[in-house]
Amino acid sequence: MSKLLSLGRYSFGMGDRFAHQARAQLRACIMAERRGVEIVPVWNKSNREHATIGSEPSSTRLAAEAAVRDLGWQKPYHVDADHIRTESVDRFLPHSDFYTIDVADWIGKPASSTAARKFADQHAELIGRMEIHNISQPFETTREQVEQIAGKYLTAVQEAGKIYRYIARAKGEGNFITEVSMDETDAPQTPPELLIILAALADEEIPVQTIAPKFTGRFNKGVDYVGDLAQFEKEFNEDLAVIATAVKQYGLPANLKLSVHSGSDKFSIYPAIRRALARFRAGVHVKTAGTTWLEELIGLAEAGGDALALAKEIYARALDHVDELCAPYASVIDIDRSKLPPVKTVESWTAEQYVSALRHDPKHQAFNPHLRQLLHVGYKIAAKMSPRYLSALEAHEASVSRNVTENLYERHLKPLFLSQG
Ligand SMILES: [Zn+2]
Repeated sequence: MSKLLSLGRYSFGMGDRFAHQARAQLRACIMAERRGVEIVPVWNKSNREHATIGSEPSSTRLAAEAAVRDLGWQKPYHVDADHIRTESVDRFLPHSDFYTIDVADWIGKPASSTAARKFADQHAELIGRMEIHNISQPFETTREQVEQIAGKYLTAVQEAGKIYRYIARAKGEGNFITEVSMDETDAPQTPPELLIILAALADEEIPVQTIAPKFTGRFNKGVDYVGDLAQFEKEFNEDLAVIATAVKQYGLPANLKLSVHSGSDKFSIYPAIRRALARFRAGVHVKTAGTTWLEELIGLAEAGGDALALAKEIYARALDHVDELCAPYASVIDIDRSKLPPVKTVESWTAEQYVSALRHDPKHQAFNPHLRQLLHVGYKIAAKMSPRYLSALEAHEASVSRNVTENLYERHLKPLFLSQG
């Protein structure tokens, strides 16, 4: 394989829905760098987000480049075509050097029994008692089980191979980073499943550098993790153990690491991730997206006056369109509508009241996760209000960018990557 464009050990995915915050986001990485930790910024935006906003992938690239130039960032950075499939990859090809190939929809589409049998023939090492370094319990898998798991995932892996080769033809092999995502599916993958998936990805000759499995628990948009923390930690550690094994056994890129999707604001799992990374000396990619858009709203509200009025108007319109806004995200939000404050109430709020309802401070008694989730999926409203929304961002840049930087640095990068104190 030719030399790979290689993703650094710690990387952080950032969404910038309106392409106005790249500088404020990059500043958070610069602050981490000053404390001695290199975190590679990756600007990610999915086709769905582009469609909702009415933006083009070129805008993500341009905003990233401008930020890098203005702030003199000399380290690597990337632009991620997030959750692309065959039908959506083309428009990203000129602008992205990181591709998240989403094959979740192909999981469970049965592979031919010959393909599954052939896989089991070629991977005798996966059958029987399997000891994985750093997992205390060995696994027992029968040939039937390997064939069954292969049958469940091979079609998805083959699809990933098709998309990978398509991108490689357009961009040249080695010139981009490949992630494979399987997070948007029902059940978390078990360690033997993950190992089989990685073996199959290696068979397809996909130089995968990050893999996004489905983890246990709920990863709702913009709010904290909901689930069994101990189980998450166990799975996360087992996944790291499986990855280390697969890198050695199947010759996958040595920097292969986990990618945690919907990482925005999953504060309660950050300590577990941190412990596991230290234990395995592993890297990680954490993807966030909407957390920055919510900081824009917080910054506008904090600015008061017209900007606060605009933030209130966005809430009022979002409440008006709650069904339409929530539908595309139904599986990743949990909103109790009875807890959404009426428009009249919000209209009477001070800047401080708006900010404390929205800002993700779980300890603050005014924090309202229902309102936060609604506004999280409500970016379509702001998109419809541009250019008014964009001019407000520009007029109140100081207040907005201060909140964007502080959120990423204090609530995300620090607890994940920086030494405490
Ligand atoms: Zn995802």
